[in-house]
Amino acid sequence: MLKEKYLNADEKFEKLLYKTGMIIGVLLIVVLCIIEILHIDVLHIVKCSFHTLTGLYCPGCGGTRAVVFLLKGDLLKSFLYHPFVLYCVVFYILFMAKGTLAYIFNDGKGYMKFRMWYVYVGVALLLGQFAVKNFLLIVCGIDILKSL
Ligand SMILES: [Zn+2]
Repeated sequence: MLKEKYLNADEKFEKLLYKTGMIIGVLLIVVLCIIEILHIDVLHIVKCSFHTLTGLYCPGCGGTRAVVFLLKGDLLKSFLYHPFVLYCVVFYILFMAKGTLAYIFNDGKGYMKFRMWYVYVGVALLLGQFAVKNFLLIVCGIDILKSL
């Protein structure tokens, strides 16, 4: 195993991101287990205050339903409810797979490089779906999240 001191600043940052990803993954699994064990109905607990007050969708509307459908294996519905969720999950899987391979086989070198375009694509997806949902709602009168 390569010693930490032989990694350059970018490699140390990538390794830190990988470790953070591991912690987030473990925490998510714990939360999902708690939800499953306690039979918590997440869809009826989480209500969007912005949508309740304005009738419009916020950038996060549909996210919980997207996660629920993703966990049920319905990728299409998950994507339609909130494409950002699927983007994050696919990205997370790729990031962690490459990081794990680097950790095991490549002396801690070869983690997935951080690129700002990953963030830009995510933000564009988030804002794009927000704009489309509200455009359909306001201009066309189609409440896409209710009609799915
Ligand atoms: Zn919302």
